[in-house]
Amino acid sequence: MNGKSQATEGERRPPRQPSAAAAGKGSTMSEPGRHADWHHLAADEAATRLSASCDDGLGEDEVRSRRAEHGENRITPKPGKGPLLRFALQFVQPLVLVLLLAGTVTAFLGEWVDSGVIFGVTLINAVIGFIQEGRAESALAALARSVSSEVTVLRGGCKQRLPSTELVPGDVVLLAAGDKVPADLRLFRTKDLQAIESALTGESTAVAKHDDALPRETVLADRRNMAYAGTVMITGRGAGVVVATGDHTETGRISRLIAEAPDLTTPLTRKMAVFSNWLLIAIGLLAVLTFAVGIWRGSSAFEMFMAAVALAVGAIPEGLPAAMTITLAIGVSRMARRRAIIRKLPAVETLGSTTVICSDKTGTLTENQMTVREVYAGGVQTTVSGSGYSPTGQIGDGGEITGALRECLLAGVLCNDAGLSEDEGGHWQIVGDPTEGALLVVARKAGLAEDSLLKSHPRRDEIPFDSTRQYMATLHEIEGRQLAYFKGAVEQLLARSTSMLDAAGRPVELRREEIERAARRMAADGLRVLAMARLAGQQTMALNESSVDAGLEFIGLVGMIDPPRPQAIAAVSTCHAAGISVKMITGDHAVTALSIARQLKIARADENALSGSELATIDDPGLCRAVREVNVFARVEPEQKLRLVRALQSNGEVVAMTGDGVNDAPALKQADIGIAMGMAGTEVAKDAADMVLTDDDFAAIEAAVEEGRGVYDNLVKFITWTLPTNFGEGLVILAAVLAGATLPITPLQILWINMTTAVFLGLMLAFEPIEENVMRRAPRRPGTPILDQALIWRIVLVSVLLLAGSFGLFLRELAQGQSLAEARTVALNVFVVVEAMYLFNCRSLTRSALHVGLFSNPAVWYGIATMVVLQALLTYLPLLNRLFATAPIGVRQWLEIFAVGVLAYLVVGAEKRLREDR
Ligand code: ATP
Repeated sequence: MNGKSQATEGERRPPRQPSAAAAGKGSTMSEPGRHADWHHLAADEAATRLSASCDDGLGEDEVRSRRAEHGENRITPKPGKGPLLRFALQFVQPLVLVLLLAGTVTAFLGEWVDSGVIFGVTLINAVIGFIQEGRAESALAALARSVSSEVTVLRGGCKQRLPSTELVPGDVVLLAAGDKVPADLRLFRTKDLQAIESALTGESTAVAKHDDALPRETVLADRRNMAYAGTVMITGRGAGVVVATGDHTETGRISRLIAEAPDLTTPLTRKMAVFSNWLLIAIGLLAVLTFAVGIWRGSSAFEMFMAAVALAVGAIPEGLPAAMTITLAIGVSRMARRRAIIRKLPAVETLGSTTVICSDKTGTLTENQMTVREVYAGGVQTTVSGSGYSPTGQIGDGGEITGALRECLLAGVLCNDAGLSEDEGGHWQIVGDPTEGALLVVARKAGLAEDSLLKSHPRRDEIPFDSTRQYMATLHEIEGRQLAYFKGAVEQLLARSTSMLDAAGRPVELRREEIERAARRMAADGLRVLAMARLAGQQTMALNESSVDAGLEFIGLVGMIDPPRPQAIAAVSTCHAAGISVKMITGDHAVTALSIARQLKIARADENALSGSELATIDDPGLCRAVREVNVFARVEPEQKLRLVRALQSNGEVVAMTGDGVNDAPALKQADIGIAMGMAGTEVAKDAADMVLTDDDFAAIEAAVEEGRGVYDNLVKFITWTLPTNFGEGLVILAAVLAGATLPITPLQILWINMTTAVFLGLMLAFEPIEENVMRRAPRRPGTPILDQALIWRIVLVSVLLLAGSFGLFLRELAQGQSLAEARTVALNVFVVVEAMYLFNCRSLTRSALHVGLFSNPAVWYGIATMVVLQALLTYLPLLNRLFATAPIGVRQWLEIFAVGVLAYLVVGAEKRLREDR
């Protein structure tokens, strides 16, 4: 986990430096950020040149003046595609090219108005696409930035977590596994520190870091004593002083890492692009056919060309690409409001078809607000009172704390990287891992304060905590003796112990079973159990995994509660109702995990957990079977998560998986939806994830799935709504040509219909609220076609209704002696009115419009009101009459038009009802 950095004497470090403040406002600073040979200087020399103190970091005043001088630690984004190019690209789409071609030929034929309007519409279309695309891109980019990257720095002698943008040259940065390096650093302390620098050097194997000076000519890739911005730390810990920020970093200079504009394509948009290409071929063939049939029947070539153009522009769903981007963008912002930040757009869609969610326990399903309830040391069980991080409460009966109990609390304080502080409002807060914070709190209840203990027991070396190792160790010097303290999973420490402390603190023979029993009892109560142990060392002891493999003295157990999040309980049950199974994959003990899983209803009372060690013995086919049954996986190592994801996927599941550590990254990448924790997650995990939860809460995953289903629904609704218009228009033209009749609608009128209704009617479906039953149906199977048979039939039905209504009324008007312009105005209005009525049918694909609530999506009404005004203008405004060859019509015609609209609405409603009943 992040934030576990602390200075240790055991790490290699240079002599102490004068504090920056003492050095006098950076007066001796030699142009930070502009000195290229930091690797060649000794670490202390580098720090001196930066007027920095490796022990205390910069003072606040100094930070302020340096910030004023150097600005934010941010790399100026590389200008993406210029607006002109982006605008031009709007025209390079097959459908638009067809329009442009039609416009050009029309111009050659001398039809200036027609050609002008075709070009005008294409232009408007491009402008809308340009604006919407820009908006969607910047919204996505802003969201990606909102997952701010944080760093641990030492300022004024205190550790702080800060957004990485606040760093200035001379700041002391503490690095831990999983951190992304926030600026260029000259390292002055390292412990097993390894970095992946592929972002900078292209080299993907890890490089070990040290802090010794290097020859001046050492090339960038070999500067082991430097850590460069944008690279990531994968193991160990270290500290460095910032030598360059923002654009002055190596990355900033080559500016290769800067995120390009986010990719706005998704599986669905790609499918639609393929569909449009097929559509285009079909339209092309039909247009040629129309032309040929017309000529054969004796019509003029000019007339037939206009018919072919009308067919082409009519059948092209111009609004489709923009509508899809907008619907997805709205989904992304709705998810952000519910605390799930989408980093990769396709995730919006995939979320909707998720069938399994694999979640960590600690912090995602539980509060991660640890409170120690019980300590078991020297065979004696002691309860602890109090709650939260406030160190008020009593240990046992409040008597003096001695022997093994004291040693147990002491181990918890020394083998600890968290900090505890009280703010001005009297609230106690921790910096770092809550499990460790809770240990500081319980120690304070016993009168053991961490700052004085760390002074009297200075840390000389350490083995940092790692989820695979499941323990942590620190080496301390106490009155000339070396003593290592351990804390970690019970099995890990018990396996390495050979003796234990009795209640009075004397070493006695290890009573393994008694300890295991106590640990099981605590875990069965739902407590998270940590073990403490120690090891007396020789004078020159160095901590590493082999030197601590045996001979530990077991001290005791600490049990802490971490209650389930109440919202998670509700979210799990919603997921179950939605046909999504929830699996807990945790590093914690099986008994604790099961106890919490039962409270969350993830596991039934009679269910068992599968442990990491059992998992290791099962082969892949066996695992595929096991993952169907088992819901709780305990003591799982991060590497095993990858196997679990693969096993689930080979069963055909669409898997969402959470993770926070460096080792979780492969599983996050493999999962269909990788989810990282915004608060507890490492930068590496966030980079690998498709989605980041801002408050680490499981309920946000459920909310995102719900939104994902809603977005998909709305896309399908738009497609179902828009296609009949295009097909209807195509059919009308085709029918007219085949019947040898005049075109009931002109190409211009078709463009008018397509553009206005797509923007003011169809697009309103993007704002459609999520239907209430969305989490009560089974997940959509990936690979299923966008439109099922029922919807295809509905599209055909509405297309035929449009054909019959508009062509029918058109012929009737002509038969009654009205002018061609009037008859066409009627035909055109039939299209618009039927589409408006059909919009209500499309608000839910299965239920009636009344069921979803007439006013639940106000956008629909605003859209309809706008269309009423636009149609009135088109019908009655002389200028538009001239441009679009329309003419005013009377009340009778309007009544007939509306009758067709209502009829169409009722027919589709009846079809829906019939299908539903079936
Ligand atoms: P989850 O995987 O659900 O987040 P977790 O926190 O228990 O749960 P890990 O972080 O992998 O999972 O930890 C595994 C085990 O290591 C824990 O159950 C605990 O026994 C031990 N442990 C956790 N944090 C620390 C720590 N800071 N120091 C020492 N041991 C720890």
